[in-house]
Amino acid sequence: MVKISCNNYGFDCSFEINGNTEEVIKKYQKHSIDEHGIEYSEEGLDQLLLRMKN
Ligand SMILES: [Zn+2]
Repeated sequence: MVKISCNNYGFDCSFEINGNTEEVIKKYQKHSIDEHGIEYSEEGLDQLLLRMKN
């Protein structure tokens, strides 16, 4: 399970999402483009993911 919180990455935004890696990346890509006009690559997002242990 992984998590992205938008405000951890410099946005004044309360969007956060967690789930499996593929789902989080897809949903965050859509959010980022729709809300912030920024397109992240999958590789870039992969680096942003906080991997939750246990
Ligand atoms: Zn956001």
